[in-house]
Amino acid sequence: MTNELTQYEEKKIILMKSGLIHWVTAETGDRMSEHLANQAGHSFLRIKELGNITINTAEVEAVYNHQQYTDLCRVKSGEWQCSYGKWHAKKGECQCKADYYREQTRKKQEEEEREKNKPQTPEEQARSREAITRMNEKAALNGERGNIFRSMYSIGNKSGRKLRRKTIEEWEKETGRKADVDGLAIEEESDTTQTP
Ligand SMILES: [Zn+2]
Repeated sequence: MTNELTQYEEKKIILMKSGLIHWVTAETGDRMSEHLANQAGHSFLRIKELGNITINTAEVEAVYNHQQYTDLCRVKSGEWQCSYGKWHAKKGECQCKADYYREQTRKKQEEEEREKNKPQTPEEQARSREAITRMNEKAALNGERGNIFRSMYSIGNKSGRKLRRKTIEEWEKETGRKADVDGLAIEEESDTTQTP
């Protein structure tokens, strides 16, 4: 079966000007092509594999391979091939460029996602923990009374969180204001040495 199909794929098509086609072996097809290319005037060729019919080369439109003939049929049925090599229906719009860029964007996002999900090293984990803590602490210092971040650091909060002195100093330096730490839990003076 596979063999038969392969043979079919390898066959050539003699397309007559009448629209009639003849499937022939590559050998016969090539011989016909030769004749068409070199002939002055026309000649008659007897084709053994087609039951010895005689073909007037003047009536031959062209000799095609399987792919060329398939493409020709598609063109004749109204389909067209865009510069991306894709066939589109008659009057069908080509979205290939948009599709191409969408696909590129998707691949890039996937790549970024993979990069993001890569397991963090302990140093990276510590860095992002520190960044989040600082953000929370500063949000607490920025916040009005009753602010959710402020309550996270309020005296007696269940988590036992305390504002670090170094963050308060940093915040005061950044804002040029004195921090309102009334009601906030602040780390002991002695803790400072532990978290330089
Ligand atoms: Zn297209």
